[in-house]
Amino acid sequence: MFLKISWKDNIHLIYYIDVILPIPLPKLFTYQITEAEANFLKVGMRVAVPFGKSKILTALAYRQHRNAPSAYEAKEIYQILDEAPIISAPQISLWEWLAEYYMCSLGEIMKASLPNLFLLESETIVYKGDTELESNSEEEEMILRMLDHQTDVKVNEISNLIEGKNAMSLISKMLEKGQIKIKEEIFEQYKPKLEKYIKISDEFSSSDKLETLMVHMSRAKKQREALLFYFHKARQVDFLKKSQFEKEGNVSASTIKSLVDKGIFEIYSKEIDRILLENSNEGLSDLTDAQKVALNEIIENFDKEKIVLLHGITSSGKTEIYSKLIEDQLKLGKQVLYLLPEIALTTQIINRLQKYFADQMVVFHSKYSNQERVESWNKILNHKNEGQIILGARSSLLLPLNNLGLIIIDEEHEHSYKQIDPAPRYHARDSAIVLGNIQKSNILLGSATPSLESYHNTKVGKYALVELNSRFGDVLLPDIELTDIKDKHKRKRMTGHFSDRLIEAIQESLSKQEQVILFQNRRGFAPVVECETCGFSPNCIHCDVTLTFHKYNNELRCHYCGHREVLPLACPACGNAHLNTKGFGTEQIEIELKSLFPEIKIARMDYDTTRTKHGYQKIIEAFENREVDILVGTQMLSKGLDFKHVSLVGILNADNMLNFPDFRAHERSFQLMTQVAGRAGRSENKGQVIIQTYNPYHQILQQVSTNDYGAMYKDQIYERQQFKYPPIVRLVKITLKHKNNFLLEKASDWLGKSLTNQFGSAVLGPASPSISKIRNLYIKNVLIKIEKRTALKESKELIQKIKLSFESIAEFRSIRFNIDVDPY
Ligand code: ADP
Ligand code: ZN
Repeated sequence: MFLKISWKDNIHLIYYIDVILPIPLPKLFTYQITEAEANFLKVGMRVAVPFGKSKILTALAYRQHRNAPSAYEAKEIYQILDEAPIISAPQISLWEWLAEYYMCSLGEIMKASLPNLFLLESETIVYKGDTELESNSEEEEMILRMLDHQTDVKVNEISNLIEGKNAMSLISKMLEKGQIKIKEEIFEQYKPKLEKYIKISDEFSSSDKLETLMVHMSRAKKQREALLFYFHKARQVDFLKKSQFEKEGNVSASTIKSLVDKGIFEIYSKEIDRILLENSNEGLSDLTDAQKVALNEIIENFDKEKIVLLHGITSSGKTEIYSKLIEDQLKLGKQVLYLLPEIALTTQIINRLQKYFADQMVVFHSKYSNQERVESWNKILNHKNEGQIILGARSSLLLPLNNLGLIIIDEEHEHSYKQIDPAPRYHARDSAIVLGNIQKSNILLGSATPSLESYHNTKVGKYALVELNSRFGDVLLPDIELTDIKDKHKRKRMTGHFSDRLIEAIQESLSKQEQVILFQNRRGFAPVVECETCGFSPNCIHCDVTLTFHKYNNELRCHYCGHREVLPLACPACGNAHLNTKGFGTEQIEIELKSLFPEIKIARMDYDTTRTKHGYQKIIEAFENREVDILVGTQMLSKGLDFKHVSLVGILNADNMLNFPDFRAHERSFQLMTQVAGRAGRSENKGQVIIQTYNPYHQILQQVSTNDYGAMYKDQIYERQQFKYPPIVRLVKITLKHKNNFLLEKASDWLGKSLTNQFGSAVLGPASPSISKIRNLYIKNVLIKIEKRTALKESKELIQKIKLSFESIAEFRSIRFNIDVDPY
């Protein structure tokens, strides 16, 4: 039912609705609605509204009132698109908090939250879908016919064709059914999985008909058997898959066909749930004594309404503890949100959890297609009263959760929880805590290397700390050995980037049929190409960075904008033919390994090898199945992966992480190395880790090698206190970007001065970041340090005011002004 009742002759009954539009403007927009519409509309329902001269956009109803806007005349809405809200009530509260805290608009949050398919607008281009479903109406038929002739059509062209105001809702429905689709930004096109089912035709479903049938069938033995088997099965299941029928009943396809031809059986297709996972009905593992103690401590703290940080060393079995907590929540009919930092990890955790909870799991991540997103969304929204686990990366926080009993934030220290661009620039961990408070759910953070922020919160009593200090099976933590490569170079003990020590250790592992992980925090072959004669290095034409050499296709690539060019034959500056490479990435390591160990199977896991939808899964599975002996990769390898047969982990160069110009570099290096090291020796035997470095006496490396998180925390928090960095103060970063560097200088000066007037010495910059131009835009940053004692809200209001004044200066209008609260 879609209402659009004209009631204009009764002008006393004018109602208004404020809507959220998926655009970056900070304000809400007001439209006029009729009384009938006002009665029907609820917060969180979509409405199609006219916007600008001729556009129609999808908006979200936010609040109703009777006050006409003063600045403009409210237009009428175009139509109501939903019969019930498509977002949950607690979601709105979260959105409001996000908008305020991260200083962005509700529209930006709406856009980040809703699946694209929900945000149809007049300019959206639609195509014919892959599903051949019957159309239910003449109008649907018209649209499909239109798409037969024209491959892509804009939504407003369809509106013109069917001349009714229900175009938007009709198109939305067809999109959700898969009859039509919109352009996918995902690599894989949607293919609905159709499964064939079998049933007896209605004519024969009564029992007396059946008897005649059986008599009739007496001579066709196979068909008779098939029928008997059908009735046997039909008592057990509601729907009988054709494949299952064939297999279990040992019925041939030709027997089925004869029965169909006789009009006894019917075959029909049903779309199966693509995201439904198989349940193998395994019970949970029994916890070890240490795990039980930790679990009880967690529960006790939950009872006291405390947020808990579980600091459990790598392979201590945190996932097993989570599983127990999840089970309890499902029994209560509650939802559990399980956040993971990375899709790579999702793959493994799905496999582990689905053994226990398959039919209650909903998975969500950025590589899902439009259709899959809608499916997950609806599943969560419409199963309010069933236990469910929602498993996913950062953005699953934005799903229509409404009945949360527990939020687990696994690997809580991970930086990928923070969204950098575009707005909302939210931190999923911090936002999840707010969401948990809104929904009054338990909150558990877990990590072997907690963030300084969270650990600090346990010290000041905001969170409870639960520790788990033994590995499952009492396997000892791996031995960590620091190898001085300066010395190795001097003594000519290096082969390429491998020290003799590392090569020896690899050989030893391989000879014992064990696997090896090698970590290098850079992809490509070499980050810099340099002319031997004049020192020239090719830079990106759009960005202020050197181009990375990718050897396998002999090209130079920019890791910031994607620009590619062929490797020049000679130096473009002086013409000399000798170009050298400096530094090294995963590709070079893989090539060197191949020549060191020609017989061995090697795989590489980095951004370049995991771009396809199932890229991660393939590599992880191959390594799990021991089809690969050595896995080379970037930081993706550090994120909680659990492999049983890895005995050696090698870190090829610890120094570039440590020297990274960022106040978190040391903390991050500790986390990265400890986590990568934690991939070794996870099942029976103690593993081994070799870290190659020019600086073996570095305090962080010493702390990594002795697994001394406490010492690292103490040192680092001291520095943060001294130099006033988070978690001691809060940071707000303002980034200005423009293609004209001169104008940018002027604008950033203006901004720096205005901010300094208000915040004094708490302002750092404006300064150009180490990469001062990306995609042809020059960049300036200003950092504002906000002491915890001062009111954050007031500081933000001041910043917003300054932003408004900035935007009112005509010549600055084309400058991008981004605000990032708690930047990473
Ligand atoms: P963490 O998340 O702390 O790194 P995991 O939960 O991945 O640790 O556990 C490490 C390995 O030990 C996994 O393979 C897991 O299946 C196994 N494991 C941990 N606890 C148990 C248990 N209680 N029973 C059986 N296996 C366990
Ligand atoms: Zn570039």
